[in-house]
Amino acid sequence: MQNSSKRPALFIDRDGTINKDCPYCHDPKDLHIYKKAVELIKFYSDKGYLVIVVTNQSGINRGYFSEDEVEVFNNELKKRVESMGGKIDDFFFCPHRPDENCDCRKPRTGMLRKILSKYDIDLSRSIVVGDRDDIDGEFARNAGLEFKIISNDGDESVG
Ligand SMILES: [Mg+2]
Ligand SMILES: [Zn+2]
Repeated sequence: MQNSSKRPALFIDRDGTINKDCPYCHDPKDLHIYKKAVELIKFYSDKGYLVIVVTNQSGINRGYFSEDEVEVFNNELKKRVESMGGKIDDFFFCPHRPDENCDCRKPRTGMLRKILSKYDIDLSRSIVVGDRDDIDGEFARNAGLEFKIISNDGDESVG
């Protein structure tokens, strides 16, 4: 039975996908948004997709920055994406280091379970987008979701 209240989602990576990557990005002044990512976000949101950012932020548990700093950075990123015509519905992040062996660090799927406990999502029509096949692509495969790689190599069209 089709549940029409369920929406598909775009699960999109953050660093290197929406914004230009930098080591342990957390300062809003290092925020540069790829126009290509905003176009992709807009394409899916226009079709009714929820747009959810799914990001590994081990810098938190490495002690490089706090969860509050991540939120400040995310809020600024959301504002910038929206000023460029896109939208973001929510952010989920994993704060753990690899050695903590959590279940939410991509490519593991714990963040997806958390998302599904908050949102009613039609996974059959959902998609994962990211810049790393070994992280985002693996995450998609582990979750049984479609994956699309985005390459921003050499793309300086940032806003
Ligand atoms: Mg990335
Ligand atoms: Zn985790």
